[in-house]
Amino acid sequence: MGLLTDHAVDLAAVYTDLHANPELGFHETRTAALVAAQLSASGFEVTTGVGVTGVVGLLRNGDGPLVLLRADMDALPVEERTGLAYASVARAVTDSGMDVPVMHACGHDVHVTCLLGACAALSADSPSWSGTLIAVFQPAEELGAGAQAMVDDGLVERFGRPAVVLGQHVAPLPAGIIGLRHGAAFAAADTLSIVLHGRGGHGSRPEASVDPVVMAAATVTRLQTIVSRELAGSDTAVVTVGSLHAGTAANIIPDRAELQLSIRTTGADVRTRVLAAVERIVRGEAVAAGAPRDPEITMGASFPAVVNDPDAARFTQPALESVARMVVDPGLVTGSEDVGVLATAAGAPCVFWILGGADPADFGGATTVEEIAAKMVDLPSNHSPMYAPQVVPTLDMGTAALVAAARRWLGQS
Ligand code: ZN
Ligand code: ZN
Repeated sequence: MGLLTDHAVDLAAVYTDLHANPELGFHETRTAALVAAQLSASGFEVTTGVGVTGVVGLLRNGDGPLVLLRADMDALPVEERTGLAYASVARAVTDSGMDVPVMHACGHDVHVTCLLGACAALSADSPSWSGTLIAVFQPAEELGAGAQAMVDDGLVERFGRPAVVLGQHVAPLPAGIIGLRHGAAFAAADTLSIVLHGRGGHGSRPEASVDPVVMAAATVTRLQTIVSRELAGSDTAVVTVGSLHAGTAANIIPDRAELQLSIRTTGADVRTRVLAAVERIVRGEAVAAGAPRDPEITMGASFPAVVNDPDAARFTQPALESVARMVVDPGLVTGSEDVGVLATAAGAPCVFWILGGADPADFGGATTVEEIAAKMVDLPSNHSPMYAPQVVPTLDMGTAALVAAARRWLGQS
């Protein structure tokens, strides 16, 4: 099986190439071409342009289950400061016309590399298993839109309904360790844009103005009370105001302030309550300030929670234990992912794990989950300009984890 079953991927070379050439969501054309070439060399049928820039590789290897392996391909508008020899100096113009630096600051280059490695390995070893592999290289995870774009482009109808959706995300756990949580694993995320309207005027004449800077400040402060004063201690939510812009000069009271919020929740009830509380507070503070117009609240990207099907996670765990130094329960991650969209569309269980990518030496002998977590807060995390996964052994471990998990679900021959 496979056109070139002896094809092996030079993981480090692929990784450093991808890392030095990152692309923003729905613009992953170079990445997609590299992926397509590697998949073809591994004997996969390749379809490009699925969900704009997504790539799907199919390897039919006799009767047996369909197993979907997923990697996301997009990078972030972050200026890399790792100092690595293969650091990105790439820039791009966003869809809104902004010139931005681009970096694989979330480690999606690790995911692509490992999945290419797994595809080559499974292809080379096809006599030992049976079934069909569906390798999904997804665009625009960071925009919360790539998985849905592939689904809307007929992912399930065109390539088949998988028995399971498997994938991983690199994170600053020690390399060699895998984190797998059964049940709710990653929080839901919602992005909101808010415009507060004041009345602009001279900085010397507050009596003739309604100051949106003070309105914004009061709003940001009161938003903090949603988690601390409105939710039960047992509920999990995060409300972050990540962007706040108003005004141009010291002596001008501006006429508007703009806020951008990121909200993380783990249950539908809590999500509904938090979103309602945000709206109530934003509108209430505008009323309290005497705003001349109601605020505008616009929903942006939305990620559903990632829920690892408990039975499927239990079934997959021994495969991960067979390759990792340790498999731990990392607890609920308040980061978000759109991989669950693929599983929901396929009506298939999702098993999505965390791949340790940090230098174990940075953990000073920590062995328990609590000790590891305590050290992790001091390390550069995903989305940091300093985020630099350790190449060895992370790429091998991520590849082996995908191979082992896929084999667990594929038929044996
Ligand atoms: Zn990310
Ligand atoms: Zn990510």
